[in-house]
Amino acid sequence: MTAADGSGSGDVPRPRADLLIKDAAQVLTCAGAPYDAGIVENAWIAIAGEIIVSVGSREAVEATVDCAEAEVIDAAGRVVAPGFVDCHTHLVFGGSRVEEYAAKMSVSDPAALRAMLGERGLKTGPMATVGRTRASSAAELFDSAAARLRGMLASGTTTVESKSGYGLSTASELLLLETNRALHANSPVDVLSTFLGAHGFPDDMSRDSYLACLIDEMIPRVAAADLAEFADVWCDEGYYTAGESGRILAAARDAGMEPKIHADAYSYIGGSDLAAEMKAVSVDHLNYTPRTVMRALADAGVVGVIMPALDFAVKHPRPFDARAMIEEGMTLALATDICPGCWVESQQFVMALACRSYAMSPAEAAWAATRGGAYALGLRDRGSIAPGQLADLQIWGVPTFEHVIYRLGGNVVEQVVKRGRVVVDHVSPCGG
Ligand SMILES: [Zn+2]
Repeated sequence: MTAADGSGSGDVPRPRADLLIKDAAQVLTCAGAPYDAGIVENAWIAIAGEIIVSVGSREAVEATVDCAEAEVIDAAGRVVAPGFVDCHTHLVFGGSRVEEYAAKMSVSDPAALRAMLGERGLKTGPMATVGRTRASSAAELFDSAAARLRGMLASGTTTVESKSGYGLSTASELLLLETNRALHANSPVDVLSTFLGAHGFPDDMSRDSYLACLIDEMIPRVAAADLAEFADVWCDEGYYTAGESGRILAAARDAGMEPKIHADAYSYIGGSDLAAEMKAVSVDHLNYTPRTVMRALADAGVVGVIMPALDFAVKHPRPFDARAMIEEGMTLALATDICPGCWVESQQFVMALACRSYAMSPAEAAWAATRGGAYALGLRDRGSIAPGQLADLQIWGVPTFEHVIYRLGGNVVEQVVKRGRVVVDHVSPCGG
């Protein structure tokens, strides 16, 4: 036998840690089966480069990793969780719809709302945002999205999916996807890109010509420029039919983009069935999804993305049924759905809503906001704290993880580590 210190011939030297997080009151590893937060108490985490190399008790970590030279974060009395993976966002758009949102507090009838805002020269709904987005410069789109992304990172989010969909013309959709790429290159946050030209129909083209444009022009150009990992469609009454959605997503898949679907948000017209049939990487919203389809989605391995803040912001008449989805065996992810109609940057707020309004346990919500999000993006290298995973972590200034869903509207994040580097530091005197 060779010496335990690694000096013996034939021994693999112990990896050397660059960053060591020690004495965490709790670490949420989220490394096991769905919804298991995998809590380890009094835990240490060793990181080498971008990768987690060891997690566990002090003895276990010190036995496997050389920690002598590591930068140390003392996490005593605090909680460490995987960075949030926000797997459904409309991060890039022009302007806001704050006037519309504020008016909705007292006017619920859409026609009355349109008339009221129309008197002030304002449009309502997604088409109002399409107008503002088309009128924005590349720099304006980047700057406004980058500001939101900074807020998301400061709230613990380390990976974001970002959809196009407020351009609805070839040039504008391409610009939105290029903005996603620029955000990825200029932020610590990983930004994955989704082509959602089928977010609606523009008012300056016929339905048939826009469908042809999506399939024959936009998808090939997005693919040629390698601008999106995923393609998405809004399949719902008043939007795309299941047949149209299937055609668009099949074309996108042939061009190398994995399908995601906005389905059953305001009606049940077959979007979730299509997701199961196509084995989409995720199916998102699910307010009207029948239980039989939930089971089919579970069997097909399609991740359900649920967005409590969207239901909250639109005061949805039929909130989704998270418990039914879990009972039918679905794997769920929690996402913000940040967009001009639901401006929420914080996955902590999303978790709080998921627990209080949808009967998810704090552990289920924590798992769904981290590893569930990674699953909804087909990512297996993040979303949990385990050896071999990317070192994307957040440190919460609270003694137990349940405080995240208890302290409403706040931000418990004190530090964020992205790919092994401290990128947010709200506690150290010299921190950023
Ligand atoms: Zn959406």
